[in-house]
Amino acid sequence: MAESHTPVLVVGGGPVGLALSCLLSDQGVNHMLIESHPGTSRHPKARGVSARSMEIFRRLGLEKEVRAAGLPAEQVRFYRGRDLVDPDYVRNGLAQEPGEGPEPSPGLICPQDALEPLLLRRAAERAGSRIRFAARLVSFEDDGLGVRAVVEDRATGRLDHLRADWLVGCDGAASTVRRPDDPSGPRTARTRGPVTPAGTARPVNPRSPGVHDGPNPIGSQPTA
Ligand SMILES: Cc1cc2nc3c(=O)[nH]c(=O)nc-3n(C[C@H](O)[C@H](O)[C@H](O)COP(=O)(O)OP(=O)(O)OC[C@H]3O[C@@H](n4cnc5c(N)ncnc54)[C@H](O)[C@@H]3O)c2cc1C
Repeated sequence: MAESHTPVLVVGGGPVGLALSCLLSDQGVNHMLIESHPGTSRHPKARGVSARSMEIFRRLGLEKEVRAAGLPAEQVRFYRGRDLVDPDYVRNGLAQEPGEGPEPSPGLICPQDALEPLLLRRAAERAGSRIRFAARLVSFEDDGLGVRAVVEDRATGRLDHLRADWLVGCDGAASTVRRPDDPSGPRTARTRGPVTPAGTARPVNPRSPGVHDGPNPIGSQPTA
């Protein structure tokens, strides 16, 4: 059976996998990224991009584009309280534009469906055809020297056999790599759990779009 080789196989083309691909390319690390969907997310999902993530995007030369795709700072406010009639209800003031606060690259609100195409374009500029969409990790095994992976081309149904020195699971909450239902699963020195740049997995209540739990990623001053 013909088996191709890649030094690093990144599974998942969400914000984490795409950002990792950009960073690997910048370090000159040859890799392949596979994503089971045919395109980037059609849903806004993650919105809060932290200052740390913006620093990473800045390093990738993407800060201006991400900022242009996000909400203008003057349109962003955060509200906190036990409920909507809480007398101690706090409204945080304006978010920051670059240069207004302590961070060189303040965080912002940029939904995932606007962010991913920017990351994909940047990733594809460097990795080209090694960014494969509509390609799903079906299974893998760790033989101690590396990982043997079976990847399905979802357009044709063809199964490709890949050998990778490293496998990185960026495949989200229903991860095939982490196999959350199998705690004895393949977590060895050559497999890695999700790699999460700060801010891409902030705790949120998905039923309340725009309401973010935890510290305000924008870091503005309370006004009232
Ligand atoms: C409905 C919904 C609403 C959300 N709302 C918010 C919000 O308001 N604010 C917020 O901050 N966060 C929100 N989130 C969470 C946010 O989307 C995640 O934290 C973020 O997407 C994590 O990024 P990621 O790259 O780790 O994973 P994902 O974005 O989940 O990307 C993982 C990728 O891996 C791919 N994949 C999975 N298995 C395989 C496989 N076997 N082979 C190949 N590819 C595979 C998937 O198709 C997916 O594209 C929401 C999530 C959902 C589902």
